[in-house]
Amino acid sequence: MSETPPPVSDQPVLRLSNVESAYGPIKAIRGVSLQVRRGEIATVLGANGAGKTTILKTISGIIDPRKGTVEFKGEDITAQDPAHIVREGLSHVPEGREVFPLLSVRDNLMMGAYTRNDQDAVMRDLETVFGYFPILRERATQDAGLLSGGQQQMLAISRALMASPDLILLDEPSLGLSPKLTKDIFEIVVRINREHGTTILLVEQNANMALNASDFGYVLENGRIVMEDTCAHLREKDDIKEFYLGIKEDSVRGERRWKKKKNWR
Ligand code: ATP
Repeated sequence: MSETPPPVSDQPVLRLSNVESAYGPIKAIRGVSLQVRRGEIATVLGANGAGKTTILKTISGIIDPRKGTVEFKGEDITAQDPAHIVREGLSHVPEGREVFPLLSVRDNLMMGAYTRNDQDAVMRDLETVFGYFPILRERATQDAGLLSGGQQQMLAISRALMASPDLILLDEPSLGLSPKLTKDIFEIVVRINREHGTTILLVEQNANMALNASDFGYVLENGRIVMEDTCAHLREKDDIKEFYLGIKEDSVRGERRWKKKKNWR
């Protein structure tokens, strides 16, 4: 992890151009183009099944796209081997965390650093992640499978940080967590970005959290990007308020009333 965060740059660290990925006959993403600038948190919002996870799997090489290109730090990494992409500086925190349950917390963290030779810097980064998530230090010698869901999410994010990546892909960190824990984890994600300049691409159904934490956002529906803007602007759009933030503004007897819409957080 770099000591001083570089400012957000106009230079994209990641660029997807017209990417299409499918599972057999099912087209999961269709012509997706997006970019993430160095130093920012970008987010892709979308409902269940919109294609968010497929975008991240396509970037990290788990799925080969049928069309389009993925560029990372100016290099074409389309359909590259995932291990090569990790070595290039891209870490993926998958949906469901996927920690190694029978390894200790510490060993899980060290697995994150397996591509690195700079042992002194690795030990410094271990201290840094223990600073962000003190519970991981307390549980360092316990099996990761014994951690709660929230603690496993902390471990998965920390393991990604241990690779000292240029870009972290973060898949639904709020999944299955209480609102309080979700808030705590988002606060740390923002701190990691602000303090270390780590660029983050976050996909989330929890639009409220994602829009508050991120600089730039894309809205994905049925595998297509239907809207993109700064998060400050997206938060003000009526469609986003109604369908993603679950609030509807209407006028009843001259009063402003905010309605909860079912099925949206
Ligand atoms: P969620 O928020 O529920 O995780 P998502 O936005 O991440 O959803 P994806 O998981 O990318 O969406 O799925 C996009 C589409 O691809 C959906 O229609 C889904 O059913 C389909 N899909 C995903 N994985 C597979 C698979 N392994 N085999 C077949 N279809 C799949």
